[in-house]
Amino acid sequence: MPEIENREDKSAAENAKALKHMFKSKMKSLKEEKWKNKALHGQYPKILEKPYVDTVTTNKWLSSNLKGETEGLLVAAQDQVLNTRNYQKVICGQQVESKCRMCSQHEETVDNIVSGCEILPKTEYISRHNNAAAYLHWSICKGHDIEITDKWYEHEPETVMHNKDNNITIMWDMPVNTDRTITANRPDIIVNDSVNSTCKLIEMTVPSDRNIALKETEKKKSKYKDLELEIQRMWHMKTVVIPVVVGALGTVKKGMVENIKRVSERATMTEIQKICMLGSARILRKVLSV
Ligand SMILES: [Zn+2]
Repeated sequence: MPEIENREDKSAAENAKALKHMFKSKMKSLKEEKWKNKALHGQYPKILEKPYVDTVTTNKWLSSNLKGETEGLLVAAQDQVLNTRNYQKVICGQQVESKCRMCSQHEETVDNIVSGCEILPKTEYISRHNNAAAYLHWSICKGHDIEITDKWYEHEPETVMHNKDNNITIMWDMPVNTDRTITANRPDIIVNDSVNSTCKLIEMTVPSDRNIALKETEKKKSKYKDLELEIQRMWHMKTVVIPVVVGALGTVKKGMVENIKRVSERATMTEIQKICMLGSARILRKVLSV
């Protein structure tokens, strides 16, 4: 009897080994197949390799205390392994419509859901953006002794707010009247410091992670350049445009940590990144459950 037992043990072990081997090689070929078909998985790591990305800051969200489920969702989003229509078609090989279920305009990928949809900007993207901008506004108010709520997420920015000495004026989403016509005349926040004669035009953007560098240049060098020059001329203040750009899945460009500090000593990049990523997680949950 012991002999038979041994033999059985041996064959069971061999079977297990063979099975494991088979499973492994199957997984390997499946994986290679996926990468060959469309290297969706490789996109996010490729973005992180770009020389302009601040990788250390970008990865900080992993140590902030998000719920496990949310963290899992966001990691899967960065890996592009969420059950989008494009994923079902390209990766799973299913015969399905792969256009966005919201707008039918583009391939439904993670990237397109969190930053490229035609329908979502009016509600979802705006609320994510406004949350991040409100946090900046709250931090600026705190830094200038303006009476506000204890929690940033309870803060409702007023169009114009002053500190008690009245030398700081903070404007929220307010168009600037200019002598000549300027189309982009409404940055998210304007901080007007009459004592130091400085004016900051702050603009928050949450673009596709692929576009963070492009968006920064766009906001700073072209979109608000005219307004910057016009304010400088009209108000006789040294004026600067400060873009705050965070990728929808959390990618942070080099220089952004410094930009945040210029906006407010009290604001942190990690908090803004978290606000943006939580917004994207909410959008993903909403769309993928439709
Ligand atoms: Zn869409």
